[in-house]
Amino acid sequence: MSTFSLDPGPDQIAVRDWIHGFAADVMRPAAAEWDEREETPWPIIQEAAKIGLYSLDFYAQQYFDPSGVGIPITMEELFWGDAGLGLAIVGTTLACVSVLANGTDEQIGTWAPQMFGTPDDVKVAAFCSSEPDAGSDVSALRTKAVYDEAKDEWVINGTKTWATNGGIAHVHVVVATVDPVLGARGQASFVIPPGTPGLSQGQKFKKHGIRASHTAEVVLDGVRVPGSCLLGGKEKLDERLARAREAAASGVKGKGARNAAMATFEASRPAVGAQAVGIARAAYEVALEYAKTRVQFGRPIVENQGIAFQLADMKTRIDAARLLVWRASWMATNNIPFEAAEGSMSKLYAGETAKWVTAQAMQILGGNGFTREYPVERMHRDSAIYSIFEGTSEIQRLVIARSISGMPIR
Ligand SMILES: Cc1cc2nc3c(=O)[nH]c(=O)nc-3n(C[C@H](O)[C@H](O)[C@H](O)COP(=O)(O)OP(=O)(O)OC[C@H]3O[C@@H](n4cnc5c(N)ncnc54)[C@H](O)[C@@H]3O)c2cc1C
Repeated sequence: MSTFSLDPGPDQIAVRDWIHGFAADVMRPAAAEWDEREETPWPIIQEAAKIGLYSLDFYAQQYFDPSGVGIPITMEELFWGDAGLGLAIVGTTLACVSVLANGTDEQIGTWAPQMFGTPDDVKVAAFCSSEPDAGSDVSALRTKAVYDEAKDEWVINGTKTWATNGGIAHVHVVVATVDPVLGARGQASFVIPPGTPGLSQGQKFKKHGIRASHTAEVVLDGVRVPGSCLLGGKEKLDERLARAREAAASGVKGKGARNAAMATFEASRPAVGAQAVGIARAAYEVALEYAKTRVQFGRPIVENQGIAFQLADMKTRIDAARLLVWRASWMATNNIPFEAAEGSMSKLYAGETAKWVTAQAMQILGGNGFTREYPVERMHRDSAIYSIFEGTSEIQRLVIARSISGMPIR
């Protein structure tokens, strides 16, 4: 087990400074333009790929970094640069994590590299769990996967919504039900290889924030994939379903029965929290600088306690959020179970902090904060997603409340 440290080692510091350079020099100058264009910023993803920042190798290195803080540091710096561009760069990792969490070594070796493509031909990947009638309630998925034994193929039908990179992805990972009676425990994840007939993009959403990140529906109409595309393999799925059926028949609610979507979300919550910390820190820095230079009533506005105390609270909350994120990430790296839903705590607190801090920053900038001449307006719009995706704030509270009480809170 690695020792928990608040002092990142030389490797982590080098990564942080390197990403900070990219965030400051490449992302920041391009952020407003891509926010307005509401299009996938392929040239920016390509620039990240050229320096190795958009690559499986880099994310695998950070994911397996024994200190546990490689991923949070990466996310914080990228999202300090810009959240929309940041999500366009890291959206692929959600699909990648679902393959890492649920796939066999062979599946990881086959699919994870394809998700990123090459620096000359960059690709993105999408993780598709949410559906029009199954958002917070992931047990209600209707997309169905049926096994065609004669051909050793799975046939998948359904409609996914809100998929980051949905429809433009090279590789899609789709969560589907294989036994609807078992709810969340009857689900499995499937890789849909590039160019598979029957998969198409539905509506592309126009959004309030993170507008450089593509979000769309994905329609699956008679999609056929080989048996090898079932993540984890058929034998493991059959064993899992048998256990779930046994538990259902005996009326015992299997505590350890995690479903495929939940495994992906649990692993990614601290990383999402770190993104929110990056946005909050960016807005705080703009507000602090502005407060020190903007003069009203003959003195910089920061000399008013009313402003200075706001900044003190902003900084305190950001640091508290980062500590929760680092703790959860370190626990996950060291396989320490989340007894009190520490992953959810980190995402909840960091997400709410980003919304609050960016709102305060707008206030401190006065009229300027309300315009697109200054970046805090965009940061505020971008922050709003952090109490919604990867489990809303209410759902995080539900997970924490159930963990600490052991009661079936609803
Ligand atoms: C920009 C964006 C990108 C996304 N990317 C992806 C992606 O890549 N892949 C993917 O699979 N999904 C993705 N999502 C989906 C996202 O995870 C869902 O939007 C989210 O889980 C909430 O689901 P919902 O929108 O259906 O809201 P609902 O579940 O309908 O919730 C509506 C409201 O009710 C509250 N609520 C629901 N149940 C309870 C309860 N039991 N107790 C208290 N309150 C409750 C919620 O907190 C929320 O406030 C994305 C969404 C957005 C907007």
